[in-house]
Amino acid sequence: MRLVMKFGGVAVASGKRIKTVAELIKRTEGELVVVTSALFKVTDMLHENAIRITKEGEIEHAKEFVEHIRAMHELAAAEAISDGQILREVCEELKERTGDLEKAMIGICLLGELSARSYDYIVSFGERLAAPIVSGTLRSKGVDAVHLSGGEAGIITNEEYGNAQPVPGAEDGIRARIVPLLAQDKVPVVTGYIGETEKGITTTLGRGGSDYTATLIGAAINADEIWLWKETEGIMSADPKIIPEAKKIPYISYREAMELSYFGASILHPRAIEPVIEKDIPIRVKNLLKPDDEGTLIAKEPEHTEKVAKAITLIENTSIINIAGSGMRSISEVAARVFIALAAENVNVIMISQGSSERTISIVIDSAQLNRAIDAIKKVNSSGTIIRDFTTNSNVSAVGVVGAGMAGTPGVAGKVFSALGNEGISIRMISQGSSEYNISFVVRREDAFRAARAIHKMFEMGK
Ligand code: ASP
Ligand code: MG
Repeated sequence: MRLVMKFGGVAVASGKRIKTVAELIKRTEGELVVVTSALFKVTDMLHENAIRITKEGEIEHAKEFVEHIRAMHELAAAEAISDGQILREVCEELKERTGDLEKAMIGICLLGELSARSYDYIVSFGERLAAPIVSGTLRSKGVDAVHLSGGEAGIITNEEYGNAQPVPGAEDGIRARIVPLLAQDKVPVVTGYIGETEKGITTTLGRGGSDYTATLIGAAINADEIWLWKETEGIMSADPKIIPEAKKIPYISYREAMELSYFGASILHPRAIEPVIEKDIPIRVKNLLKPDDEGTLIAKEPEHTEKVAKAITLIENTSIINIAGSGMRSISEVAARVFIALAAENVNVIMISQGSSERTISIVIDSAQLNRAIDAIKKVNSSGTIIRDFTTNSNVSAVGVVGAGMAGTPGVAGKVFSALGNEGISIRMISQGSSEYNISFVVRREDAFRAARAIHKMFEMGK
């Protein structure tokens, strides 16, 4: 069996957890590639402090922060690694790497400027500090582990910092790097989330990108399965924090999992499914706290599903932008210009709907991006001839109902909307993809949790 296993978040929260992870890896038979994410919250810390330090320009703060990061990783290493010699080697490497981090932090501090490229370099340190600890822990348990950065593992990407994509042919490079290590009975430990351009500059694959690293490697080396170890039971029918009756979904198709992750469920990196679909490699989302549990299996569409709607997800803080065309241009032209402008400002569009009067379009975006979106739309309309009017409503949430069984099952939308009607919740906007895998709608934020619960119950998702 050839397996890729990814560990992230709480799974690598502390030295103790890393030890548990190493024991689990040691017990696993067959060929194994390990992908590690950063220690718990480290990516967030790097992100926040890079921004703060750029703004403040205090070199002392930069040094203090890096010192904190170094101490934290040394502590985890000391907890996880029992062999003194290996521990010294790992700490030496941590010192060297945090030295590089310090130089970068001082650099942005002096310049008062944080480019997308420097940002990616800085946030990559979470994984680059975690990998030596994980591989050192494995070595101290007698596993022949070697750690590699994303670039060393062949993950060569374009230069789209923050959201880099593998270049065509990257798969061959990954295979060429990884397969010989497996042939020598080694366990490669690869930093998740990060890649490298052809020129050797560090890039990142987007937040949560370690999942994507795991599936890219899995597809490249023709793995039998990819296991994503998380701190949850698997993929759930809803967020248990909102709906306590939420249950684990034992089986979900690639398409359904993609719909869910694009619609705010923070279970998977949205692109993580793409690499494996064609080769039909199953992904399992497993719970580190219950390692023998099957978790959720993500695989191809079964012939038959009993559950029409499997899961519900919601994006809490969203805004609707309603745009009325001036009538001097076709609505498609208005839409084209608006979407180009939004894309140029990196505004991510969550839902779109166009009324049949062909005069207005409504767009749903993350509220954090609203100001950027408004500026972009104003620019489009600088001549005043494109848009007659636009309004925004930022107090709404988007809810998505996902399930392959909705395709071709009449009455699903009716059930969704009658569940809302029974609760007296009014709907602000509706959209359904033509794949019929996802019905999504927008309600007032204060109604969102109630709406999600009503639908979860109506479709017996928790049963
Ligand atoms: N450490 C990165 C993040 O927090 C990548 C990952 O966890 O998958 O986004
Ligand atoms: Mg992380």
